[in-house]
Amino acid sequence: AQHFLARSKQHAALGAFLAIDEDVALARARAADARIAADQAGALEGVPLAHKDIFVTRDFPTTAGSKMLAGYRSPFDATVVARLAEAGAVALGKLNCDEFAMGSANENSAFAPVRNPWDTQRVPGGSSGGSAAAVAARLVPAATGTDTGGSIRQPASFCGITGIKPTYGRASRYGMIAFASSLDQAGPMARSAEDCALLLSAMCGPDPDRDSTSLDLPAEDFTQALDGSLAGLRIGVPAEFFGDGLAADVRAAIDDALKEYEKLGARLVPISLPRTELSIPVYYIIAPAEASSNLSRFDGVKFGHRAQQYADLLDMYKKTRAEGFGDEVKRRIMIGTYVLSHGYYEAYYLQAQKIRRMIADDFQRAFQDCDLIAGPVAPTVAWKLGDKADDPVASYLADIFTLPASLAGLPGMSVPAGFGEGGMPVGLQLIGNYFAEGRLLNAAHQLQ
Ligand code: GLN
Repeated sequence: AQHFLARSKQHAALGAFLAIDEDVALARARAADARIAADQAGALEGVPLAHKDIFVTRDFPTTAGSKMLAGYRSPFDATVVARLAEAGAVALGKLNCDEFAMGSANENSAFAPVRNPWDTQRVPGGSSGGSAAAVAARLVPAATGTDTGGSIRQPASFCGITGIKPTYGRASRYGMIAFASSLDQAGPMARSAEDCALLLSAMCGPDPDRDSTSLDLPAEDFTQALDGSLAGLRIGVPAEFFGDGLAADVRAAIDDALKEYEKLGARLVPISLPRTELSIPVYYIIAPAEASSNLSRFDGVKFGHRAQQYADLLDMYKKTRAEGFGDEVKRRIMIGTYVLSHGYYEAYYLQAQKIRRMIADDFQRAFQDCDLIAGPVAPTVAWKLGDKADDPVASYLADIFTLPASLAGLPGMSVPAGFGEGGMPVGLQLIGNYFAEGRLLNAAHQLQ
């Protein structure tokens, strides 16, 4: 813990941490030492980590990357945070992220952009950019992230680390500040599939009293699956993930990784996910719709920021929200409110829900011919800071390969696959059928 605290201070310019508390961390580390001495060590006893600042924590402030929550402290821990602590992990602090997890470059954080440790002029990806940068720069051995439309996989890819988003419902959403509740999932980000398996085993499990969408599946030990042979494994390669939009450098790294799988005994099967392109409009209707509802709780009354001067209650709501939310959050609240409003609901939201179902059906058809799906995480390597900052649509389009699995609720992960333009890391995306996290981690581990 001392080593990682010192390293985190030394590399503060990366902007990865929003809060760090040496006293809290060292007290926990000492308690972990005592449990190890007493032979009562948990699976992650003494392992330092840090949490994306979208998880509420008792010991650290929680901001969700927003001014709206500056100075907020939760009276309870998110289930994922509590489970990792029970396994012995030592939390050092909270990691930067896009405001309310809305973004693909971490430039929507209200506090500071995060820099990519491979090239500090580039973005780390988002929204879990602080988590990815912290692990890549070895400020922590592991971190938590959340993935609504790619926010674990894409920053993991941009920063050359490993991250997994489990099946929707595997990890409890209790205490994860809600963005789009039907899509939000927590997952680990670490250096290897093996580390991710250890963390994921501690994070998952039913939480029926606190998250009604948590799956009634017993906690699993995902490390058991790591060593299985890949001989005969059918890897589906979706044509739509390899079109014109895919940069040549990324394509080359992905092709190499696929060849590596063939050497390991797997068979590549061409498949089709015909509605891949539609996942962008579908996601950018459904996610803002849910966000507009979830974010209505930030009204200046219950928690966080409240405007200083106002005429009456309505004026207080208006000023608080105008001051507290950043541009991207406001944009999504407006889009979401619009697509849910009378007369537009049927034209946009309902249509999007129908296509969402078709996207999920496409995956089930594909899984009749393959055991898992492989392709790029993102069309390019990490871009330069500022490049897409004023062009939200350009940033939405870059989510094309991560959104389909999110809409279907399927598990997906990013595994380092090599390097592209400027020596920047490229991640291979693996998508599994429901509950196939073990198989994903196995395939990732074999590649590492
Ligand atoms: N980039 C996507 C968005 O901005 C996904 C974010 C996420 O997964 N939290 O919504």
